[in-house]
Amino acid sequence: MSYPQTYYSERLQQKPESQSVLSGETRTDICIVGGGLAGLTLALRLGEQEQRCTLLEAEQVGWGASGRNGGFVSPGFAQSVSVLEKKLGVDAAKRLFAETVRATELVRTRAKAIGNVIEGDGLLKLQRYTAPDVLQRFVEHMNTVHDLKFKMLSPDALAAELSSASYRHAMLDPHTFTIDPLAYVHGLKHQALATGQVDLFEKTPAIKLDRQGARWRVSTPQGSVSAQTVVLAGSAYLGNLYRPLAGAVLPVGTYVVSTDSLGPSLDEAIRFRGALTDTRLAGDYYRRIEADQLLWGGRITTQKSEPRRLAERLKQQIVEIYPQLSDLQIRHAWSGLMGYAVHKMPVIGEMEPGLWSCTAFGGQGLSTTAMGAEMIADALVHGDDRWRQLQPFDVRWGGGPIGRAGTQMVYWGMQLKDRWQEARGA
Ligand SMILES: Cc1cc2nc3c(=O)[nH]c(=O)nc-3n(C[C@H](O)[C@H](O)[C@H](O)COP(=O)(O)OP(=O)(O)OC[C@H]3O[C@@H](n4cnc5c(N)ncnc54)[C@H](O)[C@@H]3O)c2cc1C
Repeated sequence: MSYPQTYYSERLQQKPESQSVLSGETRTDICIVGGGLAGLTLALRLGEQEQRCTLLEAEQVGWGASGRNGGFVSPGFAQSVSVLEKKLGVDAAKRLFAETVRATELVRTRAKAIGNVIEGDGLLKLQRYTAPDVLQRFVEHMNTVHDLKFKMLSPDALAAELSSASYRHAMLDPHTFTIDPLAYVHGLKHQALATGQVDLFEKTPAIKLDRQGARWRVSTPQGSVSAQTVVLAGSAYLGNLYRPLAGAVLPVGTYVVSTDSLGPSLDEAIRFRGALTDTRLAGDYYRRIEADQLLWGGRITTQKSEPRRLAERLKQQIVEIYPQLSDLQIRHAWSGLMGYAVHKMPVIGEMEPGLWSCTAFGGQGLSTTAMGAEMIADALVHGDDRWRQLQPFDVRWGGGPIGRAGTQMVYWGMQLKDRWQEARGA
């Protein structure tokens, strides 16, 4: 299967050359399963430290969520900071959050080195109801406790950036930036191969995992890899390769559309060139692309819905917020799966001797995959134990089909809560 039709696959510079399919038996130190941002960043980091590793990707690198997401690179996790502070205490939450700030900068450095990947700077977080103190308190908390540089926008400053009656207040997050994620994935792949330490096989699904004495054996349709260490980085697409993880990571679908050229109407609606999102629990995220096009994401589902119908619904959503864009034409509509654990935190750590997971980054994976990959590489090479900060969020059963139905109910509940808050606070 090649890449789905998306804005990113359309603009991918060259047709990606496929790496070879694994055939026969091979031995390596570390075998990584999954060529998304988690697996590729880990391979690159290991290669940079002269560690031999083999990466197996079932389709093509970046075929999963990593090559088709919104492209927002932000500090933080899918779980909220307030929940982390309650669970871990403020000091531990602060240390953990700081790892994602560092990872955001690491991605920026890598993206700059690849070139032509960074697309926009800064993020506007928009509030759809009155009560300015809610956002103001959040900004103050994040700045004082987590050393960030968030800033409230005055009504005039907000009006200079966009024209919509839907938004009442806004804050600017200067740490976030946006990338073309598929171009970034391909840059990482080339850098990883250039280290000379990484063997990469595409169209090579791992279909079986067995312990063999002190080593692990990963079987593929035409071969196998014997490795001292295996890292599972297959996210929502991993399937049943390792049951405890399959039960712990819920696949959650989400949707993105990109438009055709919008002409001057886009400037009338949105002038800000960075990332935009709202404060809703089940919110929209969007950004300008190219000269005058829009990329818009939203909605989550654990059900299988038709992306085309969803494209219509997302169009309605855009026009509800920006009536100036009522003539817009959707060019591409696509979906992708995010891997979520019940605690909404990444599952990073050693599950059995020599068997690691680097997964479940949810809807906030562009920075946190880099964090997870770095933590694991540093653990394997230097015995570093920063990954233990994630131990409170271990592999937990997500409830199977009941868990999926529950997640859908939670999402619908969030949508209702958003509407109630907006009606109350309008
Ligand atoms: C539509 C959408 C929008 C998003 N927007 C954002 C955003 O703006 N900002 C943000 O931070 N995050 C966003 N996310 C989340 C982010 O994309 C993910 O958290 C991140 O990409 C996860 O990376 P990963 O490497 O863990 O998984 P994936 O990218 O899903 O990669 C997993 C890979 O493993 C492979 N694989 C699975 N099983 C096997 C196997 N058995 N053998 C071999 N290979 C296997 C798959 O083929 C796949 O390529 C979004 C996600 C989606 C779907």
